[in-house]
Amino acid sequence: MTWHSFLPGHIYFGNKVIQQNPEMFRGLGRQALIVTGQGGSARRIGALDDITQALQQQDIQWEIFDQVEANPSIATVRDGGQRARQSGADFIIAIGGGSPMDAAKAIAVLALHDISDDQLLALQFGEALPLVAVPTTAGTGSEVTAASIITFPEREAKLGIRDNKLLPRVAILDPGYTVSLPWQITADTAVDAYSHAMESYLSVIATPISDMHARTALDILGPQLKRLTASREIGMADREALLLGSLLAGMAISETRVTIPHLLGYTFTIYKDIPHGRANGLLMPAFMTFNLEKSQDPKVKQVLEYSHFKDLQELTEVLAQLCGPPPVCSEAERQHFVDRTTGNPSLANNLVAPDREDLAAMLARALQ
Ligand code: NAP
Ligand code: ZN
Repeated sequence: MTWHSFLPGHIYFGNKVIQQNPEMFRGLGRQALIVTGQGGSARRIGALDDITQALQQQDIQWEIFDQVEANPSIATVRDGGQRARQSGADFIIAIGGGSPMDAAKAIAVLALHDISDDQLLALQFGEALPLVAVPTTAGTGSEVTAASIITFPEREAKLGIRDNKLLPRVAILDPGYTVSLPWQITADTAVDAYSHAMESYLSVIATPISDMHARTALDILGPQLKRLTASREIGMADREALLLGSLLAGMAISETRVTIPHLLGYTFTIYKDIPHGRANGLLMPAFMTFNLEKSQDPKVKQVLEYSHFKDLQELTEVLAQLCGPPPVCSEAERQHFVDRTTGNPSLANNLVAPDREDLAAMLARALQ
């Protein structure tokens, strides 16, 4: 077996970690563009203040681009790129969930390169600006992944731009920033992280390093999913565990990429407006059933063991409580979702590559 692993840059983790390490921004540049979501949470939770204070201490200037919507569109990313150029930014700081972090990765490219959508997607660019990522949800792991997932409305698709140049130089994880997350976003994003660990562990391109991260993430996140069903109160220790689980799952998925729940789940997000993590969760029981039926690999059952579920039924019940009912979809919509997903090369990274009928069967099971 041969494999290659590329681990990300600096990772700072802990409460008030920015105040304790203001020098973490040193050497990245003199003018930052801070990229946040359009809902204002980065400001409300204090992350923006913590960062601008640290920048001030280091004599670094900044401008703020606070226009990123959920499932960021290419148009927003282009606006951000223009803003970065106009402000003379020489590095980018993203504060938020996966949406601002992913947008910031593409902005870091477009700030330096005036390229078409096709060139961006084909990775036809040189360097990107250095990026600092500050997650405020515990789910995507985007702070340590090489992927930027952008929505291209005219293509009716969420597409990944995946290049190691997009890996954040610095990831700053303060669990305190996630305390304000409402229960439903906490659940959706925790399910996303769990899905990264699961899909990574069941990938044919898993490496010993990605497996190590995935196993630990499963171990942390399985019990956390159960706790979320038991109570709507989420204590600080649980916030820390969720953020750590999300980080480790992100490190796993950065090497292996996503497979069936994500690729089919994108259709739920695009056509049914279902949040990303929840979309994965709605498909996960059908995905696990497919793997249990079609693969003899012990790793399939290990997913349940490592995450402390006694069987698939228990996981299914937990996910049902976290994700709620599936969307109502017409027959024509089901066909369309399968059509849009079939042929994606990343499907082949699952232990068993699904064909069109397998995808249709998984979708039917998920929508029961
Ligand atoms: P999100 O779209 O970034 O944020 C969801 C909502 O949560 C927004 O309304 C946001 O408000 C709010 N929010 C964020 N932090 C908050 C906080 N601490 N307190 C209160 N509200 C807060 O959601 P996400 O699930 O983190 O990211 C989903 C995106 O990430 C999808 O586009 C998905 O495809 C992508 N993704 C990327 C990767 C990768 O490796 N690159 C992996 C998985 C998923 P604001 O508008 O104020 O920010
Ligand atoms: Zn995801």
